[in-house]
Amino acid sequence: MKTTYIKINPTAPDEAALKEAAECIKRGGLVAFPTETVYGLGADSFNEAAVKKIYIAKGRPSDNPLISHIAHIDEVSRLAEFVPEDAKKLMEAYWGGPLTIILKRKAGVPGIVSAGLDTVSVRMPSHSVANTLIRLSGTAIAAPSANLSGSPSPTTFEHCKKDMDGRVDIIIDGGECSIGVESTVVDMTGEIPVILRPGAVTLEDIISVCGKGMFGGEYADAPKCPGMKYVHYSPDAEVFAVGDIDNFEMPPEEGAALIAYDKYAHKAKNYKFYSAGSSDSDYAARLFYLLRKADEDGIKTVYALLPENKGMGTAIRNRLLKSAGGRVI
Ligand code: AMP
Ligand code: MG
Repeated sequence: MKTTYIKINPTAPDEAALKEAAECIKRGGLVAFPTETVYGLGADSFNEAAVKKIYIAKGRPSDNPLISHIAHIDEVSRLAEFVPEDAKKLMEAYWGGPLTIILKRKAGVPGIVSAGLDTVSVRMPSHSVANTLIRLSGTAIAAPSANLSGSPSPTTFEHCKKDMDGRVDIIIDGGECSIGVESTVVDMTGEIPVILRPGAVTLEDIISVCGKGMFGGEYADAPKCPGMKYVHYSPDAEVFAVGDIDNFEMPPEEGAALIAYDKYAHKAKNYKFYSAGSSDSDYAARLFYLLRKADEDGIKTVYALLPENKGMGTAIRNRLLKSAGGRVI
């Protein structure tokens, strides 16, 4: 398939140019587009054949559900059977933004979107390009991250293109994604909000709105989402999480690199140092980018600082530990 590229300025999205991409979605095509979290690979949520193409383009296992993206809060009623009060409060507080809410799936929403589950996950992005595309397409857009299954999610046009070129109809170049890790996923189908995937909206944020909340999913005994068992975020390089950076010594290996905050640059000694900036949000914005950069630079082993388990650090830890296959040194 020949892929077309459309460059859009995110500060002033050109609607005429985005219309072409929206028409493609309406026709059942695939469009990769930037969001504030990572690049997404989108198709019309209500078009079963189009959604099927997402799984093929990514090589995604068919039991890993997709998130549907909407441009306005009211559109949630097209996808969800019922919206509990606490879910409404979360939407008011954090939409558009990096929060995906799981609700009961409405009849008429193809089961393939949810990998057969009776739930549906919905997010309203804050990114101007994503929102304009969704609005112009007049539907909900099912969109997982626009990477080949198992690879780190793309946070730049170049990285999106590397994985999706020839596999999708259109890739929209809207620059870099500001958050850099995927949305928080919260299950609102039960009594208590349950975070199935940590992201920029934290457990504290959810408790501040709902008065309750907890981590679940892979943190619980029985994973609620089958997709959680798969390999994730793996570059070609071997990744190790560094739990105690203060006492860490770079092993004498050729082709090694260290990802850490600037204040630890000296720990890389004469090996390659990749800056994670100076805060957890800097680190989140760069993690996937740097894992892919390591491959481009021919790095064989990446050592990456494991941040503290709080705030955005929880989301970084979750992604990094998956990249590292759980290996912490
Ligand atoms: P991705 O869009 O690639 O970041 O993957 C979406 C992730 O959202 C899945 O791997 C699941 O962890 C989660 N997810 C999406 N829909 C559901 C759902 N209906 N129930 C549980 N988890 C979901
Ligand atoms: Mg993904």
